[in-house]
Amino acid sequence: MDSPIPFQDLNLLPDPSSTAVMTAATSPKTATGINSSFNKFVDTGKLLTPKLEPKLEPFDDLFETRESQQPQSVQQPFLSTPSSNFFSNTDFSQTPFSDQNHTPLSQSSSISSDKDNVYSEFYRISQLFRSAFGKGLQSYGDADVEVVDPDAQAIVPVPEENQISTVVVSKRRYDKRSSELVRVTDLGVEDQRYFRDVVRRTRMIFDSLRVLSTAEEEKSPGLMRRLRGDLRASSLMRERGLWLNRDKRIVGSIPGVHIGDLFFFRMELCVVGLHGQAQAGIDYVPASQSSNGEPIATSIIVSGGYEDDEDAGDMIIYTGHGGQDKFSKQCMHQKLEGGNLALERSMHYGIEVRVIRGMKYAGSVASKIYVYDGLYRILDCWFDVGKSGFGVYKYKLLRIDGQAEMGSSILKFAENLRTKPLSLRPSGYLSLDISMKKEAVPVLLFNDIDNDQEPLYYEYLVRTVFPPFAFHQSGSGTGCSCVTSCVHDCFCAMKNGGEFGYDQNGFLVRGKPIIFECGPFCQCPPQCRNRVSQKGLKHRLEVFRSRETGWGVRSLDLIHAGAFICEYAGVVLTREQAQVFSMNGDTLIYPNRFSDRWAEWGDLSQIYSNYVRPSYPSVPPLDFAMDVSRMRNVACYISHSTSPNVLVQFVLYDHNNLMFPHLMLFAMENIPPLRELSIDYGVADDWSGKLAICN
Ligand SMILES: [Zn+2]
Ligand SMILES: [Zn+2]
Repeated sequence: MDSPIPFQDLNLLPDPSSTAVMTAATSPKTATGINSSFNKFVDTGKLLTPKLEPKLEPFDDLFETRESQQPQSVQQPFLSTPSSNFFSNTDFSQTPFSDQNHTPLSQSSSISSDKDNVYSEFYRISQLFRSAFGKGLQSYGDADVEVVDPDAQAIVPVPEENQISTVVVSKRRYDKRSSELVRVTDLGVEDQRYFRDVVRRTRMIFDSLRVLSTAEEEKSPGLMRRLRGDLRASSLMRERGLWLNRDKRIVGSIPGVHIGDLFFFRMELCVVGLHGQAQAGIDYVPASQSSNGEPIATSIIVSGGYEDDEDAGDMIIYTGHGGQDKFSKQCMHQKLEGGNLALERSMHYGIEVRVIRGMKYAGSVASKIYVYDGLYRILDCWFDVGKSGFGVYKYKLLRIDGQAEMGSSILKFAENLRTKPLSLRPSGYLSLDISMKKEAVPVLLFNDIDNDQEPLYYEYLVRTVFPPFAFHQSGSGTGCSCVTSCVHDCFCAMKNGGEFGYDQNGFLVRGKPIIFECGPFCQCPPQCRNRVSQKGLKHRLEVFRSRETGWGVRSLDLIHAGAFICEYAGVVLTREQAQVFSMNGDTLIYPNRFSDRWAEWGDLSQIYSNYVRPSYPSVPPLDFAMDVSRMRNVACYISHSTSPNVLVQFVLYDHNNLMFPHLMLFAMENIPPLRELSIDYGVADDWSGKLAICN
């Protein structure tokens, strides 16, 4: 019998976007030294901010932010486990690419022994960055550069962190953002994987901190106003030197960020270095920092809502900034300075810009989502009369060919697919619901490449079937007696070590050896926050056939990091039964062979050096197998990856037998619609690719 697990590691597949994009960029040959409008301000030491109105995004969190920046009447210590040597580690600030994976903070003894490796690794990584300008342009002619606060030269000073963060006991000067323009070239498969992992881990810390900060907040009921978890997370990470790409200003693709990656918060874009402005729409190196004295644009955010913008996907007419009132209406003429000049200069030098689109998305944790849509070239720039009669700068941008499909078009396609799958894909659907209504939402089956119909031959199993004796210890004494909803000191919270596994939105706060959800012996209602994975599917999943990985699974809905996806269901066999079944050649899944990826979700060892991974409630080594050779669910088709986007979390709810937990799958990152899901099934045999998890 065939393994239900496709062989190939998803990471080994070449990324279609990378090679084409990396080589597309060209370096400027000449530079005309024009006197930037910034220089005179630099000379007089004045700040630039009053001179330019940044192109803020319409309807963004800006005003909301200002309101929430009011001094809090109640000072909250952020996170209840502050580290004594909180500021002791400064290594991170030197090397944003240092892989904490290799040198975990908690094992300081290993750091010195690995030092050489880290340095040689850093050197290797450094070699991948190439200056985006020719050598002749490297000299700094402007001696004033150093005395000016880099933030002051930004169009918008990066705001709010200092005021929001309450963990900062002494104000520490943040690392200066480099002005050295570099382009990343020739990334091999290994390097791509490396950077992807760095970005993944960084974003996981961001999300963990964000979710955790909301969870902490819930414990202090006196607090009237909601604090923004995204700001607190980014602020903490900045303090710890965990923002990526601060030591280089990257032109073109950011290593490890893929086209189609989704972000819920502007601060997240800053954290990974995709767009370094918290509010302004144009990110650029100011003239005073630029090696040739000219501003250079590196990325823009296209949000729609601007009267003079036109967005046709591959082609964009982008309006410059300045002269807009707080409702994004033009009320003055724009000038060719700041970001406007930077875009013009980027056009002159043929420097590509990253385009990030901001879109409204119903049902997300924030009002908007940001999707990275790839690289565009600026073809034209002109001064025009805008719709309100004022002069505006316009830029025509064209998407560079040969890149992966735009994330924003995939989002739109998936949205339509959710409502009318057959009109968008008249052929290819083998079933519109292989669960036959057993799941709360349909599970689609799609194959437009061959005649394989295998998933149709299995009976759909919604939940894992446990042997009757697993239920023996269960009884009414094992549940809580909460009437309305469970509270933080109820019996079930205590079973979880005094904290629930999920936040109020149902997102996994941090991975644990096991989570006790409320169950049939609890008095609480079905809406209890401690009942998440037992409710089954919420996202519309699709089992699909691909040439690379065989059968795979993707979602038509956007899946938030930390969200429950589905159970890995099978029929539980004891060790003795498993021996018989495996002799028959049946397909078995061994739960103890999954990698402990749960430990990565909520791992804050880079924030707190005394962080220890949760070990309570503990589980004994699991000694059962699951048969999936006749009955199975959608999870069985999820592919293997060594940098997965889905983790396995053990959960108990319908019985209390620690030997037989449910295998519940949660998202480790924001998973865009139609992106393949993957789990780390454990160690794969290098030669056959056959996974040790099944026999
Ligand atoms: Zn409950
Ligand atoms: Zn309960």
